[in-house]
Order: sequence, then C-alpha cells, then structure tokens
Amino acid sequence: MEKKPFVTEAQIQNILPDVPTPFHIYDEKGIRENARRINQAFSWNKGFKEYFAVKALPNPSILEILREEGCGVDCSSLTELMLSEAVGFEGSEIMFSSNQTPSEDMKKAYDLGAYINLDDATMVGFLERVAGVPETVFCRYNPGGTFSLGQSKEGFQVMDKPGDAKYGMTEAQMVESFKQLKAKGAKNFGIHAFLASNTLSDDYYPELAGILFQLAVRVSQAAGVHIGYINLSGGVGIPYRPDQRENDIMAIGEGVRKKFEEILVPAGMGDVSIFTELGRFMTGPYGALVTTAIHEKHIYKEYIGLDACAANLMRPAMYGAYHHITVLGKEDAPCDHVYDVVGGLCENNDKFAIDRALPKIDIGDLVYIHDTGAHGSAMGYNYNGKLRSAEVLLCEDGSHRLIRRAETPHDYFATLDFTPFFKQMFPGDFEEK
Ligand SMILES: *Cc1c(COP(=O)(O)O)cnc(C)c1O
Repeated sequence: MEKKPFVTEAQIQNILPDVPTPFHIYDEKGIRENARRINQAFSWNKGFKEYFAVKALPNPSILEILREEGCGVDCSSLTELMLSEAVGFEGSEIMFSSNQTPSEDMKKAYDLGAYINLDDATMVGFLERVAGVPETVFCRYNPGGTFSLGQSKEGFQVMDKPGDAKYGMTEAQMVESFKQLKAKGAKNFGIHAFLASNTLSDDYYPELAGILFQLAVRVSQAAGVHIGYINLSGGVGIPYRPDQRENDIMAIGEGVRKKFEEILVPAGMGDVSIFTELGRFMTGPYGALVTTAIHEKHIYKEYIGLDACAANLMRPAMYGAYHHITVLGKEDAPCDHVYDVVGGLCENNDKFAIDRALPKIDIGDLVYIHDTGAHGSAMGYNYNGKLRSAEVLLCEDGSHRLIRRAETPHDYFATLDFTPFFKQMFPGDFEEK
C-alpha cells in the first residue's frame, strides 16, 4: 500500500509562520472517521465501548474529539485520570487499567467512579484499604505461556509471551479475587487481557475474544458471579511499512461477533458488553512529525540531519521501529539516494531511518515522518536538554490549531532549584530586612 501524507506541502507552508518545525500534526477528520468505523464494527453489541488508551496521545483536544465520537478513556496514572476528568469524562466512561498502582492513583480512580481493573490478586485488599470496593470491578488475566496466531494472511507472525509479561493474574487467582470482591460488596464483574501488541492480523481480537469468552464462562461458574463486561484491551496494529496490509476493523468486529454467538450466547451470557482499549489503532496513522532538514554530511555514509530528534519520537531508537518518510513536495521524485536520517542527540541510536532510499534531500526540505499519532509525542523526553515539540491539529475544515505549544528553556528549567546560585549572584536580594 502506498503511504501518502494527510497534508500537502502547501498546507504545511501555511502553518509554518505560526508554528515552526518540528511539530506533530494530527488529522481530525481521519481520527473521527476511524472512530466511527470502530463503533460501526461493534454495533452488534449493545454495550460496546472503546476506551481510548490515553497514554498513546495524552492531549485534551484529541480526547475531546474522541469523546464526541462516543469513546471513553483508558487511564493508568493519576495525571491521565486528571486529564480525562478535565475533558469531562466520568464514571463508566473511564477504565483504570494500571499496575503497581500508587494509593493516590487508586483513590482518584475510585472517586471518579471509574471502572477499576485489578492487575493482581493482592490488589483486592489494597483497593479496599486505600479507597473502597466499588460495585463494578475488573480483573486482568494472564494465561502464561506463549500466545501465537501462526501465520497471518500477509505472512506476518503474531506471537507474544504472556508468560514473561508482568501483567495480570492466573485463572485461579481471578476466581479467588472475584469471590472476595463479591463478599466485600461488588456486584458487577469484568475481565480484561492484553496478549499481543501491534498485531497486523484480523484474527487477533477474535482469537483473544475466544479465550476470554471461555474464561468468562468458567470463572463465572467457579466464582458464582455474573460477568457483564469483557475488555479486549489494545493491541490492534497499524501498517507502519508500505508493504504491510491494513487491518480490516469490520472483519475484526465480525470475527468477535462469531465467537460471541458460539460461546457466550449458548452459556446464557448474551448480555455481556464488549469493551476495547485501542490506542495505536485509534490515532497512530492520523499523526505525523513534521521536521526540516538542517544539515547534510558525507562520511562513510550519507547523513541528513533534522531539527527533530529521538526526544520527539523515540520509537526508532527504542524499538528499531520503522517509520515511513516522505519529503514534502518531492512525493513523485525517484528515490535514488540512500540516507541515514538522524536527529542531534549525542547517542548513535538517534536515527529516524537507516539506509533509506529517498529522493535527493536539500537543506530546508520538509521531512514528514509518518504514523506518529500514537506513542509518538507521548513518549517524548528531555535528554540532552532537548525540548518537546508542539502539537498541531489539522481541523476538519482545513484550518489548523496549536493544541500544545513547544516547550521553552523556561519550562525545562522550571523544576530546578536555582536559589543557592541566585544567592551568590544577587546577595542583596537575600539579606534580612
Ligand atoms: C498500552 C495499552 C493499551 C493500548 O495499546 P495499543 O497497542 O496502543 O492499542 C491498552 N490497554 C492497556 C492496559 C495498555 O497498557
């Protein structure tokens, strides 16, 4: 599949006087249309709700768009809860799927009336001590071992190792937890699992659904509770590479429906609500990092230096992840040059692309890095004193809006204590009056 930017060079030229590069830009239209497709794909399920994983793109303007499209939020920390509260999410519109949870965070989730998802059996007592036992509560499952779908249609191997993952609890622990929670007053129960990340297969959700539906039938009998919610969590992937195939969310929704009819309906559990906590699939393709080529260098390889670095997009440095690159205005030029496209961190893994065939890049060219709408800006950091970039929303009507300004040196220094240095520099200011 050919990967095309969702903005033109002319549109970016329009933004530059207001917001210099580097910045992340998000496509409101793309985000809305995709959210509608997901809701459509699961419309067969009466209680369906997508809880957007806030960690993927924690910006209130984006959360507001998703709220308007009927989505909830999935939070895992105090500040994600606070951000969601500020946007107006409350009660059952919030899932709280955290682990190693501080008591302050747990208390906040309880006070907001969020659906709390317990990562471990020891969290039952913890929840009761620090907050209280709510009417509705979830437990997170870890089946252990290896999860594999074998070969998917496009030859991509889907495999992950839940047995090595820190999340979730065993089936026996889940049964015991539900029994205890029921004894402490909980009335409605849900189960949750996240077994594989960035899956490029329409079979992942249906396969996971099959596992969780059967688990729900067994656990509800063993614990004597009614399970009303099954949360398939995140993990549906996006095609970062041009040769990868896009997931078909309609086929995914239909695959989950088949398992629902096969397993839950005959067990008398046809009233179960299906939840999802997608992050990457919701916003990943609808974001891009817009940068400028500021240097070129010819040594043993050809380098193009950008005004952005791994502090603005960590995935290539951290995971060796592929992000497609388009040189704006040169969309149709032949890719007859091979470059390492790099940022300025004093770390040799600060490379957005290695040995990438691209059109000839000139200094000042706008370099567009695809698919940064999830786990992009959000993973930003300040190593080397690099400042976080701005975030711009490309609105449905073609206008643009700055939804996060770039950090300034003032922001970077704000948490430091300069008092002892000021005392030395301006002793008069510190004399007893
Ligand atoms: C990260 C995360 C998600 C979202 O994952 P994606 O791969 O972005 O879909 C959902 N739920 C939980 C608990 C997570 O930690």
